[in-house]
Amino acid sequence: MTGTRTGRRGSTTAWADIDLHALGRNLERLRRGLPSGQAVFGVVKADAYGHGAGPVGRALQRFGIDGLVVADMGEGITLRRAGVTAPILVIDPPLQSQLRLPALHRLGATVTSAAEARALATAANRAGRTVDVHVRVDTGFAGLGAPRAGLADLLAAVAAAPVLRLEGLYTHLSGAYGPYEDGGLVELERFGEAVDAARAAGLLPPLVHALSSPALDRPLLTGAAARIGCTAVRCGAALFGIRMVDGDSPLPLAPVMSVKARVTRVTALEPGDIADYAAAGAAPRRTPVAVLPFGFSDGHHLHRLAGGVLLIRGRPAPVLGRPFMSSLLADVTDIPDVQPGDEAVLIGRQGDHRITAEDIAARSGLRPSAVPLLGPRIVRRYRSNSAGREQPE
Ligand SMILES: *Cc1c(COP(=O)(O)O)cnc(C)c1O
Repeated sequence: MTGTRTGRRGSTTAWADIDLHALGRNLERLRRGLPSGQAVFGVVKADAYGHGAGPVGRALQRFGIDGLVVADMGEGITLRRAGVTAPILVIDPPLQSQLRLPALHRLGATVTSAAEARALATAANRAGRTVDVHVRVDTGFAGLGAPRAGLADLLAAVAAAPVLRLEGLYTHLSGAYGPYEDGGLVELERFGEAVDAARAAGLLPPLVHALSSPALDRPLLTGAAARIGCTAVRCGAALFGIRMVDGDSPLPLAPVMSVKARVTRVTALEPGDIADYAAAGAAPRRTPVAVLPFGFSDGHHLHRLAGGVLLIRGRPAPVLGRPFMSSLLADVTDIPDVQPGDEAVLIGRQGDHRITAEDIAARSGLRPSAVPLLGPRIVRRYRSNSAGREQPE
């Protein structure tokens, strides 16, 4: 398969390899770690965390994902146009101007108030199509979702409209992204009360979901979620093999993206030459450098990659000074015989070395899920060497 972005064969000097086989294996491993029967929704907002929403959405569908989740209606429509037929949940409730879109494009809508439910029902009736609805409940994270008080009335408003199908009840746990084993548990207990209230009103939908990536390998949270009646999880980062929280994890997830660039020039800084715009970093000695066509417009993290490394000829090459907009300099003093055209690895493996999104996040202060968000110049190349089922290793 080929990348979806522009770039003629041979014109590409910087690219991201997307390993769809690893994506399928990650899904399989996540499923295996969950209590049986939990549905898995793949979060593919932000162009599938920079991995490409269309190819990733289609691949996840082939691998049997139960549904996809995006942030807004536009992203949902993009997935439909890319041929995704699986259920899609949109996190942002529709604005007034967007009320027809869930019916037109078969998108699941998030609803957080009875007024939203009624407006959506009116639009769905006009379009003559049933719309799936997930009610989001606020359990203390950024004020997103419906207040817990009055939840039964909101569910009743959805249930009262035959054109709306009450499919889901959900929340998102901020505490799961913290450093503590039990982070998110208090929010999950609040969600449990909301689930009880829905059950008592006879309005508990089939999909009840709260856990996201950092919660999926914590038995404390997966156990508690199953006990309160959760039937599904939503995960983004974990599918891409990215860990949002430090520490060991029992789940062996593989990174899906590697980032590479070809050396475009090999040159040298003479003593006193400057490596970046900040006149501060004068080279103390003659320094052989490789120029890479990858700058801060190609990856945010490069703004702060000074002091970081990339890999050339299987060896670490320190980044010299601060990267430019479209290129950077790497110190290749310790790597003999570097040539234009050599492949450098910015994220991924080469020889015995490996650079991960988590390493870069730790160095740059970014969230790990921000690292694979690359600029428009970087072509993506998709590889899938099997149906995505677990292969013997
Ligand atoms: C982004 C998002 C997720 C996915 O989070 P990950 O940590 O990437 O798994 C899940 N739920 C909601 C509501 C989100 O906004």
